[in-house]
Amino acid sequence: MRKLIAAATTALLAACTSTTDPVPQQSAAPVAMRDTQSSVSDYYRVAARVEPVAESVCRSFHANKPRGFCDFQVKVNTDPSQPANAYQTIGADGRPIITFNVNMLRSFRNDHEIAFVFGHEAGHQIARHIEQTQANQLAGAVLGGILVAVGGGDARVGVDIGGAIGGRSYSKKFELEADTIAAHIADRAGYNAAIGARTFERTRGSSALLATHPPSTQRMSQVARTIQTINTAKSQGGRAPVAW
Ligand SMILES: [Zn+2]
Repeated sequence: MRKLIAAATTALLAACTSTTDPVPQQSAAPVAMRDTQSSVSDYYRVAARVEPVAESVCRSFHANKPRGFCDFQVKVNTDPSQPANAYQTIGADGRPIITFNVNMLRSFRNDHEIAFVFGHEAGHQIARHIEQTQANQLAGAVLGGILVAVGGGDARVGVDIGGAIGGRSYSKKFELEADTIAAHIADRAGYNAAIGARTFERTRGSSALLATHPPSTQRMSQVARTIQTINTAKSQGGRAPVAW
């Protein structure tokens, strides 16, 4: 029984990556990889334009948080052995860190895609997804611990399983929220969010990604709806408020 529980824990933890956004190696369409040096410099150039926009959107929602809460650090993971991925974490100083690894950067086809994914990672911070995931994991951990303890099992193993389930429960919802925020941020930074969101085309049909992310078609239609809202406001001489 304990072996079974341990196996289940491993499987769930492997699938529980709500704050990372991997591009699977086996995507539906083959990805032409660009050279490392130019893709890294493109990233820093685009990030320099998108970060101030993301920071200002963030501050409009989190005026009461410490200033560091919205001051995004821009990083690259240069490990060439890692599969394409981007993720948002919190540094020891409390500042959010947006990290793209080098294979993710090499897979981008244009600046719009970089801007969109950067906006998506910033969106996780703006919508406080890490905080909420930790709260879910805590609630799940308590529940899982009780269930396994009642069943006579090892409560520590139960905590792991419960935590993984709790952490995973909102991840698809969070991904769609981050996509919505990304469309606003990319557009405000002067990029084409519709072209940027076509980065999802490369992840269509990946079962690994579907474990933690909504289907690409759902994500693209969510972004299309957001762009429509943005453009309607523009045509009326206004600006659509960021909402998710
Ligand atoms: Zn995400």
